[in-house]
Amino acid sequence: MVRIGIGYDSHRLVEGRQLILGGEVVPHSAGLKGHSDGDALCHAITDAILGAAALGDIGRHFPDTDPQYKGANSLALLVRAVGIIHEAGYRIENVDAVVIAERPTLAPHVDRIRARLAGALGVEAGAVSVKGKTNEGMGEVGRAEAIAVHAVALLRRG
Ligand code: MG
Repeated sequence: MVRIGIGYDSHRLVEGRQLILGGEVVPHSAGLKGHSDGDALCHAITDAILGAAALGDIGRHFPDTDPQYKGANSLALLVRAVGIIHEAGYRIENVDAVVIAERPTLAPHVDRIRARLAGALGVEAGAVSVKGKTNEGMGEVGRAEAIAVHAVALLRRG
């Protein structure tokens, strides 16, 4: 049995923070604001795998009102979500994500982000796709004031 899940997240870009995407630092003049480290890519993938298993979402398992998640390493939360779906009998077939960012250009960083995510997901890098895209100058994302991420995950049970 295969199950598909979708995840979405967006965070505002602010000065004075490191930009972290998929657990990797991406050099940029601003980083993603958030209660955690703001890693919108990890958050979207976490929601995609939890969603595929119908096991809730990141906010239910790791609420941002809980002080223990302040500044949290989102890659570590993703690893915990992988443990949750493994316990329920699922394994990950593949994950695909689109990172919509006017700046910075993601392409030079995509392969190390994929490798990092694959390690967290317990799959080969070939099972993880990350694609950078601009928003053609439109809206907050297009003004490089925010980054948005869409992700899908396919899980197999048994
Ligand atoms: Mg988030």
